[in-house]
Amino acid sequence: MTAEPDGPEDRLRRFATIWSRAVFPVTATSLNRAEFDALLMPLARQLRDALLARTLDAAQGQAIGAALVEVHCTDPEALSRTLDVVDAYLVLYCGGDGSTEELRSRSARLQHAVAAGYAGALRDRTLIEQEAIARAAQEARYAVAEALHTSEVRFRAVFEEAATGIGIADLDGCMLEANDALVRMFGGSEQLVRGRKLKDWSHPEDTPHLWRLYDELVRGEREHYRVEKAFHRPDGTVLWTNLTVSLLRDAEGRPQYQLALMEDTTERRLLNLRLRYEATHDALTGLPNRTLFFERLEKALAAGDGMRFGLCYLDLDGFKTINDSLGHAAGDRLLVEVADRLQACVTVPGEMVARLGGDEFVALTSGPCTETDVDDLAGRIMTALATPVRIEGRELTVRGSIGIVEGPAKERSPAEVLRSADITMYRAKHAGGNRYELADPEADQRTITRHGLTTALPVALERGEFFIEYQPLVDLGDGSVRGAEALVRWSHPQHGVLGPDRFIPLAENTGLIVPLGRWVLEESVRQARHWQDRHADAGPLRINVNLSPCQLHHPQLVSDTVDILDRHGLDPSVLCLEVTESALIGADDDLLKPLRRLSEMGVNIALDDFGTGYSNLANLRRLPVGILKLDRSFTQGMQQFPADPTDLKIVEGIVSLAHSLDLSVTVEGVETGAQAEALRDMGCDTAQGWYYARPGPPDRLHQLALADATS
Ligand code: C2E
Ligand code: MG
Ligand code: MG
Repeated sequence: MTAEPDGPEDRLRRFATIWSRAVFPVTATSLNRAEFDALLMPLARQLRDALLARTLDAAQGQAIGAALVEVHCTDPEALSRTLDVVDAYLVLYCGGDGSTEELRSRSARLQHAVAAGYAGALRDRTLIEQEAIARAAQEARYAVAEALHTSEVRFRAVFEEAATGIGIADLDGCMLEANDALVRMFGGSEQLVRGRKLKDWSHPEDTPHLWRLYDELVRGEREHYRVEKAFHRPDGTVLWTNLTVSLLRDAEGRPQYQLALMEDTTERRLLNLRLRYEATHDALTGLPNRTLFFERLEKALAAGDGMRFGLCYLDLDGFKTINDSLGHAAGDRLLVEVADRLQACVTVPGEMVARLGGDEFVALTSGPCTETDVDDLAGRIMTALATPVRIEGRELTVRGSIGIVEGPAKERSPAEVLRSADITMYRAKHAGGNRYELADPEADQRTITRHGLTTALPVALERGEFFIEYQPLVDLGDGSVRGAEALVRWSHPQHGVLGPDRFIPLAENTGLIVPLGRWVLEESVRQARHWQDRHADAGPLRINVNLSPCQLHHPQLVSDTVDILDRHGLDPSVLCLEVTESALIGADDDLLKPLRRLSEMGVNIALDDFGTGYSNLANLRRLPVGILKLDRSFTQGMQQFPADPTDLKIVEGIVSLAHSLDLSVTVEGVETGAQAEALRDMGCDTAQGWYYARPGPPDRLHQLALADATS
């Protein structure tokens, strides 16, 4: 197979070349660059295959790490550079068409596997080397009688040339001899090593266990021991070693010397610390990540009698809107700011905050009286979020919903605690957000988890568990019903009727939204046709159907819609598709094309939840939109008496701008007659809300005794 000019094979080779260029200078290989390139190519291929495999296999990464040691990349710098190259280039050159976020997370996991494989292989290799040295030393001792001279020469050769540090000390702990490698480890000066007392080399990190092993060895009660030990270097830095000490006996078997083999592990240790840090911290915000949080939670839950824990599970309200409308860079900045504020909320030992992913954060506290502590903590978090965040010259209001779980240690598993916190957080969100709620174990039992719903969704569509309620759209001028919005519901066999907020986001995540949305469209269009047939005298009622962002991206949106309208014989002008403002902001022409085609055919397009998406009003002209649906938050502002004057001004401004752009204005969430009147005075065209009717079954629409129609 010949590769395309810029085919995957070429890109793979380029990746291998970059890797080789980075690593070659620090290898101990006798190969030349070209030969080394060729050696790395199959490893690069393995890396790519592991990255793109259906499921990520850590063993593959580990094998690559081990292979690096095999090709003499034993300098820790070689690993460090390898990880840098993989981090920066693997996804870029070998990523294929997968989701970048998913690939980056795989690449990070691969890096950890490579590092683990590398460290393991290096340790094995060092052990083999050390054992060879120890064997030579033993042989030197046993051979005294028959071939003292030759074995002494052999021992000397090993001693002088070994890369491992070797020292020989007497039983009083005085260092008699040290090879060059050992002297180098301590900074290169012989006087500082030879003649030194071993006990002078104690270090604060030494465990008492270590010196007990030492005493046993010099007393002849043990033959060897192996420990990890730190030493002070003369220049003040710390040397970390794997230290193996063996007892050398004389021909009669009496203890005579101790032989120490030292492997410098300082670099590897630093690298491990760095890897550990990276594996346990979130790259964007620097906060501890899910892994570290779970470790801490486990520890808090395993604590002894009388100890308790408290957990705040925070999810930002409306973060998706900010991300969609201002872009991911702004979303990231907001998350960083939130992370900083949260970090400032934990002040006491035993408290931590972490980012679980996306806009979800947790704060954990542990101790004997977390009942009050966790309440304080949640309060501090809400206060910290209250000040608006300035990003790109805008003031963004950050709100969050917190679920609190508190209780004694030893009763629940981390997964149970987190599940309860998640459920409670959703309860807070459902109650309007911007608040915290305390977990209620009984309510938890009855609560439906997101996971459970997600798995039940596909079957639900097959079994026909979804149905649609219709909420009238009323003309503010004369109070007549102009149409209805179709709002989908799920009649769940165990949990009863669930609103769209519970399952639409899940359907979006799993892609089920496309068939579900198609079903809603078909069913609504069928219903609209039915109304026309039954109430021919009343004139056609418009039917509004909500579209999710995923449906907008779907290549068959236009053909499906045309097909459905055709099959039911409905004029396109009877249909109105509602698209949320946030889905269209920043949309390029490609994304707008299907909507534009539909609009040209006569389908109405409405911008739903308008006013929540920080959109640029001037942008409206670009969009193929004929109707603005003002979000409920505006009508809420008018509920108090007297109404919030700023809200009134904003609504007036939007209405006049919309009219000047030839857009009509619908308001959502009208709950009182006073609101309806104020909105009519401001020139809004149509309205929807509980004041007129709650969403209900289709046959109710024509029987409605509308509050305004009679006036
Ligand atoms: P939306 O399109 O903004 O729909 C209006 C929501 O406001 C509906 O909630 C409706 O029941 C509620 N509402 C209407 N009048 C009032 C009022 O006077 N006061 C208050 N407080 N609320 C009122 P619902 O049915 O829970 O739908 C929520 C959202 O779910 C919808 O918001 C829409 O974005 C989405 N959705 C509903 N059906 C579908 C669908 O078939 N497909 C897609 N993609 N999304 C849907
Ligand atoms: Mg809508
Ligand atoms: Mg809406």
